[in-house]
Amino acid sequence: MRRSIILATLFSLILGLAIPVSAAPAEQPQFDPDEMVFPVGGDEYRITDSFGDCRDGCARSHEGVDIMAPKGTPVYAVADGTATWVSAAPDDCCRLGIDHGNGWYTRYLHLNDDVVDKNGVYKENTDGRGWGIAEGIVDGTELKAGQLIGWVGDSGNAAETVTHLHFELRRTEGDEWDAVAIDAYPYLLRAEGNWIGQFFDDDDSVHQANIDKIFAAGITVGCNPPLNNEFCPRDSITRGQMAAFIARALGLTEMSGETRFDDLSGHQFEQAVDKIVTAGIGFGCDADSYCPNRPLQRDEMAELLARAFDYTSPSDVDVFADDNGNQFERSINILAANGITVGCNPPAFDNYCPSETLTRAQMATFFVRVGAA
Ligand SMILES: [Zn+2]
Repeated sequence: MRRSIILATLFSLILGLAIPVSAAPAEQPQFDPDEMVFPVGGDEYRITDSFGDCRDGCARSHEGVDIMAPKGTPVYAVADGTATWVSAAPDDCCRLGIDHGNGWYTRYLHLNDDVVDKNGVYKENTDGRGWGIAEGIVDGTELKAGQLIGWVGDSGNAAETVTHLHFELRRTEGDEWDAVAIDAYPYLLRAEGNWIGQFFDDDDSVHQANIDKIFAAGITVGCNPPLNNEFCPRDSITRGQMAAFIARALGLTEMSGETRFDDLSGHQFEQAVDKIVTAGIGFGCDADSYCPNRPLQRDEMAELLARAFDYTSPSDVDVFADDNGNQFERSINILAANGITVGCNPPAFDNYCPSETLTRAQMATFFVRVGAA
């Protein structure tokens, strides 16, 4: 690239031409099998080292890796790409491929084609009423890494066998249908580590386990709707998000329907704020406003947690030097005395940093500490 630019510049100098300065080509994300997202959700799956196994009396070899999992287990795109080879007819359901660019493809077979009866039991079905491909996915649909694409089943030639995802990784220098199968087993083992738990952007966080706990408790749903496969652990938690966390943690439903705050109408967290204010937990950032988009401060966090989780004693402690006179000092001391929070200046820990903000990941750990998850 650099060499060609130099040559072009040279020629243009020789010819006395000005070369137009074109914008650098958009960075094309390259598929890297080492960076794949694991394609099967939940924790009930089992990967089998089955690539190259004999099939049909060794007339052909197994070109994929089978991941055994219960029927209905979510299946995710392993990387960004474009849907291809998507089942189009009921008698052809259910499989799809993803074109990841640069000759890389993945394929997902035996997706569910059975229907669930009123008791929640799957009925074996070949009439295509069950459709194990996520809604809206057709040939050409752009897909994101980690996006839900379907559900594990036993369609195709896996009918009546153990339900599983047959996953293929393929590569070609030419046509899609010439792509050669590659053993995906080692990459899948690696992919398991690439995505621990519910969200794939928190695996390097010390709070990862607690984030999964608050997800399991219904306190968070994620930060990138509708996919919600990310938690945004490093983002500051806002006052609005905190309202939603508390409302969900406590299962609050009661709302007043009218708010005295002028900055909430139509806001994503209007109802959550209403719930925690109605419950006597939430409070504004001034007399007229709630400031739902403002990062939550540590002193506000202490007050909200103390109110939400009924920390009321002891009332006669003074733990920190830098919160004296703070309007939430009492709650800060109570939370510290109960071991929920510590100071902000190790190793002394005698300051609280009341006006500092917190990350969403830190907040997950606080919810675990107060026993909400
Ligand atoms: Zn298979």
